[in-house]
Amino acid sequence: MAGEPQADCLFCKIVAGEIPATVVRETATTVAFRDIAPKAPTHVLVIPRVHYPDAASLAAGDPGAAADVLREAGEVAAQEKIDGHGYRVVFNTGAGSGQTVFHAHAHVLGGRDLTHMG
Ligand code: AMP
Repeated sequence: MAGEPQADCLFCKIVAGEIPATVVRETATTVAFRDIAPKAPTHVLVIPRVHYPDAASLAAGDPGAAADVLREAGEVAAQEKIDGHGYRVVFNTGAGSGQTVFHAHAHVLGGRDLTHMG
């Protein structure tokens, strides 16, 4: 069923505490943790606790959780002190975009100048 945990999903396992992660923030509906292979000095992933394969299906199926992910992206940026300079929020969607984990997630990237980042 849409939104239900998936047994084969890495990020559902992080939500369940079955796989360790460096969690920086948690709410009733989201978990934020450091990316294991950071692409910037600050690289945090914000995920909904509910399982949807990507951001668009999350927004369609659970708009409240989608809003919570966006709000938390901003809270992470403030907590990590990357909001002053500016930061990037990325939702890769589909294998052709580079998405490798099919549980909706926001990348929050910052801590260096991203003006020329591709
Ligand atoms: P995407 O390519 O948009 O699907 O992003 C998935 C991200 O998850 C990548 O940036 C990975 O480095 C990151 N990642 C994969 N496994 C883990 C893990 N166990 N803990 C934290 N981040 C992870």
